[in-house]
Amino acid sequence: MAVLPLYNTIILPESKIWLRTSFYKERTGKAPVSGERVSLLALKKDQTRAQWTDDSFYPIGAAGILGEIDSSGFMSIDVLNRVNVEEAAILADRSVSMTVSRRADTGDLDADDARSRTTSVKDRILTFARGQQWEPMLRAFAARWDTLWSIAAAMSPWLSISNEEKYALLAEDSLSKRFDETERILLEGLEMADVTSEAQTAQKEDHEKLYRESAIRKQIEYLQKQLDEMHPENVTEIRRLEMKLEDSGMNETALREGRKVLNRLKGEGANSPETGMLTDWLDLLTGLPWKKEAARDIILDDARRALDAEHSGLDKVKTRILQQIAVMRLKGRQSGSILCFVGAPGTGKTSIGESIAKALGRKYVRVSLGGARDEADIRGHRRTYIGAMPGRIIDGIHKCGASNPVMVLDEVDKLASSYNGDPASALLEVLDPEQNFSFTDHYLNVPFDLSDVFFICTANTLDTIPEPLLNRMEVISFRGYTPLEKHEIARAHLLPKALKAAGIPEETLNLTDEALDLVIEDYTREAGVRGLKKRMDQICRAAAIQLVEQPEAKIEITGENLAQYMDINPVHHKRVPAKAKPGIVTGLAWTPSGGDILYIQTLLTKGAGKITVTGQLGDVMKESAQIAMTLVKSLFPDRADAFSENDLHIHVPDGATPKDGPSAGITLTCALASLVSGTQIPPDVAMTGEVSLQGDVNPIGGLPEKLMAAQRAGVTRVFIPADNLDDLKDVAQEVKNALEIIPVSTVSEVLARLSISAQESLDKAV
Ligand code: ADP
Repeated sequence: MAVLPLYNTIILPESKIWLRTSFYKERTGKAPVSGERVSLLALKKDQTRAQWTDDSFYPIGAAGILGEIDSSGFMSIDVLNRVNVEEAAILADRSVSMTVSRRADTGDLDADDARSRTTSVKDRILTFARGQQWEPMLRAFAARWDTLWSIAAAMSPWLSISNEEKYALLAEDSLSKRFDETERILLEGLEMADVTSEAQTAQKEDHEKLYRESAIRKQIEYLQKQLDEMHPENVTEIRRLEMKLEDSGMNETALREGRKVLNRLKGEGANSPETGMLTDWLDLLTGLPWKKEAARDIILDDARRALDAEHSGLDKVKTRILQQIAVMRLKGRQSGSILCFVGAPGTGKTSIGESIAKALGRKYVRVSLGGARDEADIRGHRRTYIGAMPGRIIDGIHKCGASNPVMVLDEVDKLASSYNGDPASALLEVLDPEQNFSFTDHYLNVPFDLSDVFFICTANTLDTIPEPLLNRMEVISFRGYTPLEKHEIARAHLLPKALKAAGIPEETLNLTDEALDLVIEDYTREAGVRGLKKRMDQICRAAAIQLVEQPEAKIEITGENLAQYMDINPVHHKRVPAKAKPGIVTGLAWTPSGGDILYIQTLLTKGAGKITVTGQLGDVMKESAQIAMTLVKSLFPDRADAFSENDLHIHVPDGATPKDGPSAGITLTCALASLVSGTQIPPDVAMTGEVSLQGDVNPIGGLPEKLMAAQRAGVTRVFIPADNLDDLKDVAQEVKNALEIIPVSTVSEVLARLSISAQESLDKAV
């Protein structure tokens, strides 16, 4: 008899098992013959003929008889009854030899009950099959199902139960339990199939709905567009925003938020207070330059020409800017390091930013940071506030309408901070290339990419710029202009522009060199050229009146008639006094608006060693005064009691900044030395330098501005710290020509040069 081992198949008496003829041959090693008997064994594991051993089979099997064998390669086996497998052995040809005995069922089945339950399972299967592609095939099969066992056998491959569970049905002795269990498995299988198919249909419906929805939306949009084009006058505000929103090219996050707000707007009545707010917000959102501006090819020569066209001089600055442009070009980027232009007002910091934009062919936008106190100034207010606004950065981007402008952040040194968060830290995020590709303004509330913006900061002084911010920037100094440079700037730029603005042809008005120099010398007092520009404008306005009255006139402005064209009186520059007095020395100061001279005045009065310091510098000066006094006492031992027997008054007139205070150290020391020794120091000798208690002269800042101020005031000789010699390369040649500059390293050197004798003990004491 053939032995057929089966895996994962439900084998039950009174059922039919269908299989391929080839499979039968392969498993049994015999060709099937209708009507022959066969033993069915249940395999424990999914093994092939070559793999099975004596142990591969479960102890209960079944006896069967071969049924129809059709020509299309299928055959059936009618399962008859269960058997106990007593002994199974694998023979050399891999066939199985065994002894079996019949295994009886226990209990009975209520035939009617069994029939009706079987019918109900069958019906459910047919219902499930309804409308499926394979329904006809299933129906043909189902016609032959007369027992629940046949159904189970036929469904066997589709039931998601394990091999053990399938075998457990065969091993169940109780007929009624076997029936119940089989029914349960079938019904569960059906439930599962139902749920899966429901989920699949639902999913399919969802897809279809989505697809339909988007198709309808597209249709509506298309029709609406056509309508709008036919009647542009009827386009409503909401529709206008909607069109802008969809066309803006914004990122997904922004678009989603925009649609959300638009839907809210649609829900509001025209008179609702929300309407204005929502519209404003949508206007901003849709007005931002979401589409990225492509990088232009930059030609260095053109850039150089553009920079030269509007600004004279500033060679160092221009070179640095061109370097940056070259680097950007090589790296294919639209932005590079953050530049910080530092210098006195009117030295061209902001306006060269505008020239850079021209040189790069990009938009220019200026954002003033002066007085920004809250984080909200930079980053905007949250939309929940009434009157909420975007911050200055997003506002600037909105105004210029390009994603890659040259943005000048003016007056970073004037950022204040308040309890409402620090604007500087918000600015840090704006300037940080790691973060600024997704800068989120509180008002806008969706990220905007600032990474293509070319940022330039301007400041008058570095002292008040927060350290972390300063670290991120590359500082480029703008020094003040010399009178000669101012003259050139006025000739080349300021005067032609002023004439043009006033509508005066260039040949009609002649401002002589002498008159121009007078304007520079007597009517302005500044490191930059802002005042000079105003004077040029004033001259042209005054000339305009004259030209209206006498259209044919040719106007000649000379030194003599200049005052007629001016609306202010000449300013009086501080000039060094002609007469010297002991205890008074000329010092040099740096201020954010350029350099200045100052006189340190000292006086001894009868008293008992009290020191009074007046003037602007306060504490810093008190310290310097102490050091100066100690130094002078040690340099002039026999005059030391002058300080204990008298009161000392030191006055430093306004002008210098506290930070610059220590650089008056040498001046103060010389003033005291002059006072106690009774030696006069000529007023046209000026000095600057910090002093140490050892009597060394240490370096100071702002040398170019200080020397320029000295020259302007009529100083002829200047003592500077030897360590500052390097800075002389930044000093205009005409200033260097006009001054005798003496580098010094110690206080004694200065005193010796000024012939202030400190008696023999001078060097020994120091
Ligand atoms: P800042 O930003 O340094 O305060 P601005 O850039 O506003 O100065 O300059 C003030 C005015 O002076 C502008 O009209 C500018 O064109 C002019 N200006 C400054 N420097 C130069 C220069 N080197 N050449 C030509 N014009 C200049």
